[in-house]
Amino acid sequence: MQVREYSVLSEVEASVSSGWSCSADHDNRLFTGCNVENACYNLGVCAERNALSKAVSEGCRSFRAIVISSDLSEQFISPCGGCRQFMREFGADWEVFLTKTDGSFLRMTVDDLLPVSFGPEDLSMRKLKLQNGH
Ligand SMILES: [Zn+2]
Repeated sequence: MQVREYSVLSEVEASVSSGWSCSADHDNRLFTGCNVENACYNLGVCAERNALSKAVSEGCRSFRAIVISSDLSEQFISPCGGCRQFMREFGADWEVFLTKTDGSFLRMTVDDLLPVSFGPEDLSMRKLKLQNGH
């Protein structure tokens, strides 16, 4: 699985990777992750968030691409909504590769997967000032 991820990343000269995930930063460092499942299902962590969290723990805050792969043969693997928002934290204009087991892939951006998104810059946008506590 990793060989395919690295291959896709090399095609884009990328430096981050999700099932199984591989992500690349702007220094061409490569970070991998896998789904971490838990008997208490909602405590599991998706491979995308795993790979990105590993990268952040190593000091990376900017990504060029993420490759998401799985054992699905009939369709491209797609990140869940939570992972889309998690990726958005690092910008909307970086690449996401959705793969199939035959090596084919779809090249998208975070913005393609999460249009009209909410990101960290929205937290500092000007707010209406209320008077008299209303
Ligand atoms: Zn997810």
